[in-house]
Amino acid sequence: MTAPEYSFVIPVHNEAESLPELARQLTDVMAQLDGSAEVVLVDDGSTDGSFEIMRELHEHDARFRVLRLSRNFGHQIAITAGLDHADGYAIVIMDADLQDPPEVVLEMAQRWRDGYSVVYAVRDRRSGEGLVKRVTAKWFYRLLDRFTDTPIPLDAGDFRLVDRQALTAIRSMREHNRYLRGMFAWVGFDQTGVRYVRPARYAGTTKFSMRKMASFATDGILSFSAAPLRLALNLGFVISTLAFLAGFAAIACKVAGVYTVPGWASLSVAVALLGGMQLIILGVIGEYIARIYEEVRRRPLYLVRDTLGLDADGPWRAPDGPRGSRP
Ligand code: UDP
Ligand code: MG
Repeated sequence: MTAPEYSFVIPVHNEAESLPELARQLTDVMAQLDGSAEVVLVDDGSTDGSFEIMRELHEHDARFRVLRLSRNFGHQIAITAGLDHADGYAIVIMDADLQDPPEVVLEMAQRWRDGYSVVYAVRDRRSGEGLVKRVTAKWFYRLLDRFTDTPIPLDAGDFRLVDRQALTAIRSMREHNRYLRGMFAWVGFDQTGVRYVRPARYAGTTKFSMRKMASFATDGILSFSAAPLRLALNLGFVISTLAFLAGFAAIACKVAGVYTVPGWASLSVAVALLGGMQLIILGVIGEYIARIYEEVRRRPLYLVRDTLGLDADGPWRAPDGPRGSRP
């Protein structure tokens, strides 16, 4: 079997309603692409019969391949699993809910032929998402940009095309706290963006709760920046300086006999303020330590339960030993 020119990597978590339409549109786009293609569907612990639909897709058209994880590992890990198993020369990452319109891929392929290694899709406008999501996302990307030294493209999600060279680099990065769009920015090579309007979900509801979103945002900032730690340090300096000045002022007042009322109010405020600061700073440090702990355990990133049309170990093996396939 020769490697296909293009691989689509698609994480799927309970998308039974979208899958048939996704397959239809993908088949369309694959016919228009200038080379052979495969689709790696990663079943990230679906419980709504998505896997059975994927099995049908595979039986109907062997270009649809399926990687079934042992449970829900989350969006970023599901993409990683798919990337480990994709065989193409240009790999396209996209969501299963058709919020990443397959026809944009044709433009990405064009850019790839022009010589770019990474072609990411920039969301021009989000037509189908609520105000809260739009505002928080916009805010978050700009905050992250200020915090990090790696220039991560604004308003770009995981929807992108990457070539083998960039893919190989990403495959070698086995960190657990994954913020893929940042990692892709980090690897470098020639990158460019194409713009598109992000439509609403084809069916179903978002699989990201506000909490999951917040934890993803935290991952993004903490794994790409030490700025929060530095912030803690700076805050400590500022507070200490203020406390020193206050002490100096108090002594001066005492000596001059200006201020003699026992100031328990100001004292308790100062104590509470300092206590609060210390807790915040400990919390920031704790966040980093938790991540260090997660990394040093070196567990596999995901476990594979079944594969259809794919080798469970994938074309690529992690340097830290085999990934978890069934014995
Ligand atoms: N997804 C996944 N695992 C999860 C959550 C989501 O594989 O734990 C998939 C989901 O099926 C979809 C993509 O990731 O294909 C993006 O999820 P969603 O559309 O819910 O996110 P949103 O577009 O709302 O940010
Ligand atoms: Mg979506």
